Amino acid sequence: MLVRKVARAAVLALGAMLPLVAVTAPAANAAEPQVLVRTLYYDTSQAQEFVADWDKAAENWNNSVSNVKLAKKGPGTPTNIRIYADNGWPRAMPTSLGNGTVYMGRQAVQQGHYRPRITTHEIGHILGLPDRRTGLCTDLMSGSSAPATCKNDLPNSAERAEVDRKFRGQLATADVRAAGYASTECFVY
Ligand SMILES: [Zn+2]
Repeated sequence: MLVRKVARAAVLALGAMLPLVAVTAPAANAAEPQVLVRTLYYDTSQAQEFVADWDKAAENWNNSVSNVKLAKKGPGTPTNIRIYADNGWPRAMPTSLGNGTVYMGRQAVQQGHYRPRITTHEIGHILGLPDRRTGLCTDLMSGSSAPATCKNDLPNSAERAEVDRKFRGQLATADVRAAGYASTECFVY
């Protein structure tokens, strides 16, 4: 009985202190859940004739997910996604979740594949999605397994949910490594 009274007194004393804590330590708000939207900067300065297609990919993802945002690199911003163009096949080399290098390969463009679908697919790899060669045009990550006539450049609901799940909260370096990334990985369209 005595112990319980003492404990109750301690709780009351603590409660009396709380307003003071709230006033003197605004950081107490940090304990509340926060919406963490991570911004990734992409650099189109070396994208050559495909700049508009990469901008469209960023727009497609920004309209599809909420936990990560793509923004064009400006002066003073970091570069998360490096973009190049060459005559090979489109591909992505993620180095960690949200970081890596992508190529628009002219080979796929010449074969008639839809440019915004290619760029949005490659950014999908940087956002943590693997290839899933289902052959379905409704799947963004089916890539070139879908017919070249496929013009769907938007992730489906499962692909959107997967990206939002991967970018929920802040990922520590250890989490990124646990997600299965190796610096030598190369995904293709
Ligand atoms: Zn791919």
